Amino acid sequence: MESTFKTNERIENSIKTNYIKAQSDETFKKLINSFDVDEHEKIVNTSKFQDTVECLKNCKNCKGLTNCKNANIGYVFYPELYNDKIEFYYKPCKFMKEEINKQNNKVTREKEIDNASMKDLDINDKARVKVIKWITKFINNYDNTKKNKGLYLHGSFGCGKTYIISAVFNELKKMGYKTEIVYFPTLLRDLKSNFDELESTINYLENVDLLLIDDIGAEKVSEWSRDEILGTILQTRMNDYKTTFFTSNYTIDELEKRLAKDDNKIAANRVIERIKILTDDIEIQEGENRRK
Ligand code: ADP
Ligand code: MG
Repeated sequence: MESTFKTNERIENSIKTNYIKAQSDETFKKLINSFDVDEHEKIVNTSKFQDTVECLKNCKNCKGLTNCKNANIGYVFYPELYNDKIEFYYKPCKFMKEEINKQNNKVTREKEIDNASMKDLDINDKARVKVIKWITKFINNYDNTKKNKGLYLHGSFGCGKTYIISAVFNELKKMGYKTEIVYFPTLLRDLKSNFDELESTINYLENVDLLLIDDIGAEKVSEWSRDEILGTILQTRMNDYKTTFFTSNYTIDELEKRLAKDDNKIAANRVIERIKILTDDIEIQEGENRRK
């Protein structure tokens, strides 16, 4: 049998061979040359650098988030030097930065939400027939004393997901129901910086008649955001039959993978099962991009 020492040597050689081979790619070469660090550090990170190169190539002629080909939509897997070690993280691309700024601007966002109306929904758009049928029935039947499922609405950036649910909520508000829309990544940030208000905010989100968790999956997943915030809110809403909506750029299966980031598949599945109980799942397929 081969000794451990020999096996290690063989693995090391093969990583080194990959590193040398990878340099036939110009982008790879330029990228590693930009780092002033011990070569061994570059060699051991070969496959991560290759992931970065793939992202950069996807980004090259990209026209916007709708067409993003990266696994993590709107983000580039990127290297950074930290205490003489190379660390990789997900860096928002230029389009994602714009999107984040827009979503973080409360005034713009609230204005858009307030302006959404059922009468302006384009009912002839084929990609939306299914969702429009669903929401029409929902508005006609909603009653906060009964069990009413919400929607997990997913599709590409800018296809009108937030607009559609906002239009539904605006109708129900006219009937006197209480609604709330939270942009999930911003909610997490706000909860962190206003720890004193955490309990009351969660309590409010657990009890409002209709809740939209907007853009789930766009947040940086942590145990805290998944289990303590999302998990808690969903558990209570499920127990109390409170109607909950979600919009996402990811399918439920993709979301489950994202939530399992720390390889905690059980915890991710627990949240996903709650979402499945709370909602019907509809995709807006290849809808026209509504962003100007
Ligand atoms: P998504 O949530 O899918 O990323 P949005 O709902 O934010 O997309 O829609 C993108 C843009 O298009 C927004 O500025 C929104 O106000 C606008 N929009 C979406 N649907 C309509 C519609 N039916 N009529 C008018 N504007 C719309
Ligand atoms: Mg949206």
